[in-house]
Amino acid sequence: MKQEIVLVTGAAGFLGSHLTDKLLAAGHSVIGVDNLATGNLANLAHLKHEPNFRLVEQDICVPFDVGHVDSVFNFASPASPDDYHRLGIETLLVGSAGTINTLEIARKYNAGYLHASTSECYGDPEVHPQVETYWGNVNPVGPRSVYDEAKRFSEAAVTAYHRYHNVNTHLVRIFNTYGPRLQANDGRVISNFMIQALRGNPLTIYGDGSQTRSFCFVSDLIEGIVRLSRSAEHTPVNIGNPVEWTIKECALEILAVTGADLPIVHRPLPQDDPTRRRPDITKAKALLGWEPKVSLNEGLKLSLDYFKACIDAAPVAASV
Ligand code: NAD
Ligand code: UDP
Repeated sequence: MKQEIVLVTGAAGFLGSHLTDKLLAAGHSVIGVDNLATGNLANLAHLKHEPNFRLVEQDICVPFDVGHVDSVFNFASPASPDDYHRLGIETLLVGSAGTINTLEIARKYNAGYLHASTSECYGDPEVHPQVETYWGNVNPVGPRSVYDEAKRFSEAAVTAYHRYHNVNTHLVRIFNTYGPRLQANDGRVISNFMIQALRGNPLTIYGDGSQTRSFCFVSDLIEGIVRLSRSAEHTPVNIGNPVEWTIKECALEILAVTGADLPIVHRPLPQDDPTRRRPDITKAKALLGWEPKVSLNEGLKLSLDYFKACIDAAPVAASV
């Protein structure tokens, strides 16, 4: 594969940092851009002496230029519900202005462009499992809309830059992903349950725990994303693990993996919390020859040391 200069926005975040590692390992040079809104420099600490990597501290909502790049991976955005509720306007802006600014970079340098979209585009889905041709069921004025609608706008913008400017774009709809570097205190279910279990606190299930999610280990996701970026596909592609878990089953799996024997407590279900989510990955399998390899049990075991280190390093939110 040709060695490229790659721009990764959101490089200090969970997924952006893993993507950066993968691209560097393949011999590319990476320019990471991040404003540290939800990211963590510790995710990039191991790259301090890496000659093919540099980090630019920059808000992508402001037009910027890092010089010639061969491809752009746009991963900058708050991603956890706690984060995008706290940063609602910023989330709308990064999905709109930030996406346009990065598309302009791809247009200027004739670079490939991959955007990190989300299963949230399907909202609370009436079609199950979710297939890419389903248009979704999103409440445009609900509390999650700052994220969902920003991502739907991004998909429209990315598609328009392909349609009007012939930019070589790719759209990945990412389903819930976990692994080392998932922020311990950003409120997502895997980090909450892992930290609670390792601290000996009760696990907090929102609602009755019958809602479902499908959890993909980070290495599987990044492999699918890199394959998509090398493909000729411009329409959205689901990347996620199709094994579906109720949140209650997920809590029990985490208790089993951590060896903890703890009570489960119930908290109110957030408004518009999707009742079910599972990717149909037929398209990714056919187009990319991709499917996930890591089971939830294996992935949680691979994440244990990271979450233990988080507890040792710093206190996390009191509710967790
Ligand atoms: P994260 O919060 O760990 O990382 C996001 C990064 O973007 C952070 O480093 C943050 O500082 C940076 N950022 C936010 N706003 C910015 C701005 N205006 N300018 C520059 N940098 C900015 O989240 P993540 O889980 O790594 O998610 C990365 C991307 O993948 C996001 O776009 C998210 O919507 C998408 N995604 C993630 C998941 C998942 O399960 N992790 C699922 C679907 C989609
Ligand atoms: N959830 C939970 N307990 C927690 C955190 C989350 O029961 O401590 C639930 C949440 O209500 C949702 C699911 O777990 O139904 C996944 O939540 P997360 O925030 O990880 O991601 P989402 O898929 O909702 O964006």
